[in-house]
Amino acid sequence: MSDYKDKYEMVIGLEVHAQLKTKSKIFGREGCEFGHEPNTETGPVTLAFPGVLPVLNKECVNMAILTGLALNSKIAPRCKFDRKQYFYPDLPKGYQISQFDEPICIGGWVQIQDKKIGITRAHLEEDAGKLVHAGASGIYGSTYSLVDLNRAGTPLLEIVSEPDMRSSAEAREYVENLRNILKYIGVCDGNLEEGSMRADCNISIRPFGQKEFGTRAEIKNVNSFRSLVRAIEYEFIRQAEILEEGGKVIQETRLWDDAAGITSSMRGKEDAHDYRYFPEPDLMPLEISQEWIDKIKETMPELPNQKMERYQSIGLSEYDAGVIVNQIDMATYFDELIKLDVDPKTASNFLMGEVAAFLKEEKISVGESKLSVENFAKLLGLLKKGTISNNIAKSLVIEILNTGKDAQALVEEKGLSVISDEGELVKIVQKIIADNPSQVEAYKGGKDKLFGFFVGQAMKETKGRANPALINKLIKEELEK
Ligand code: ADP
Ligand code: MG
Repeated sequence: MSDYKDKYEMVIGLEVHAQLKTKSKIFGREGCEFGHEPNTETGPVTLAFPGVLPVLNKECVNMAILTGLALNSKIAPRCKFDRKQYFYPDLPKGYQISQFDEPICIGGWVQIQDKKIGITRAHLEEDAGKLVHAGASGIYGSTYSLVDLNRAGTPLLEIVSEPDMRSSAEAREYVENLRNILKYIGVCDGNLEEGSMRADCNISIRPFGQKEFGTRAEIKNVNSFRSLVRAIEYEFIRQAEILEEGGKVIQETRLWDDAAGITSSMRGKEDAHDYRYFPEPDLMPLEISQEWIDKIKETMPELPNQKMERYQSIGLSEYDAGVIVNQIDMATYFDELIKLDVDPKTASNFLMGEVAAFLKEEKISVGESKLSVENFAKLLGLLKKGTISNNIAKSLVIEILNTGKDAQALVEEKGLSVISDEGELVKIVQKIIADNPSQVEAYKGGKDKLFGFFVGQAMKETKGRANPALINKLIKEELEK
């Protein structure tokens, strides 16, 4: 199995459908929020009543432009809509309005670890409804099907990549980075499970050294990062086995079955002419002026890779910066926090350590927690000034996460400030030395490692409050007497 990887190279191109976060549908006034009762987000346009006309939702265009700019694409000065005809019960009109040969965004790229993944195009289109197969378990065992048209007419931006990826890890990173960008610019919530972002995965293989691409299969129904990786790995082996046996991979659409961990043939690949595309006569071509593009450009927020660079420039490691940037709410919180004159590196250590562990356990986000930005900054300030030790600060942050109590008040109430009184500390050190004669003897006999034992005892005695530098110095002095 592993020798297939030595012999064949994977080639992957992805078509990502991102559901745009608009209030209403792309060509009608009906709402398009997820999770409503079936068939309540519908109306004359969604249901394709005779005589209704599509009216383009401007917000969809704004979002497509913003996305195009974030993906380094060219925004077409003119584009148009086309009808893509097919029959399916979830498509009341009998055709989907999409963009065929004149998409709104052309070219571009998404940066992954060490290369740029090319973007071929991005185009606007409407989603179809959803069939719910009921009556028995699974699609093929169903006794009847229901149709929910809430999703029909929901705006989608289909982002098509170049066949630039060469492993499942690269494909995963591409989708992760793309998803982050879409979330940061606020056009899509990027929820794979709820289907607000869907990736169709085209994969082919070729012997290393061969220039031409092999025949691709397109895999649908991958709705998590994990299944994306599993589907690609499965498909790689399936295609390699076909080639090994002297067969030919056929171009087709395959469905990923997550429970079984396999892909299976859904239908032969349809060609564009099967859809009988033609220009949508009910919509004017769309002209986008440079002024319009410039206006949208002004609203562009800081993008994830820019945030990454900024965090690294203020002292975070690449890894830490990545973890924070990958969670928008964490990044927003962190940005507020570092405005309050805290040391970014210390703040990130706490966030990635104690805070992250607590949030994971409680299944909440940092914004939802009781640790307000101001209170956290206060706590970090006490640490910076040397009023409290690092360990005390760590236990306090957990207490605040649980209770929301004020950092300063907690330190006072519990008497947690660092002891820097030399006289007080010397007494404690002398007592420890007197109580542990055998350790003292061993230390003096050359067991240097025992130094830590004395520090530990002193910390225990002071409940972690001894000034660390001072206690080290005093123990050394007393032991050398
Ligand atoms: P279609 O609508 O027929 O699927 P698209 O042009 O929309 O065609 O999408 C094709 C996708 O397949 C793109 O993401 C492209 O990068 C990818 N692709 C094309 N040829 C190959 C290939 N031989 N192997 C893997 N991916 C491919
Ligand atoms: Mg396709």
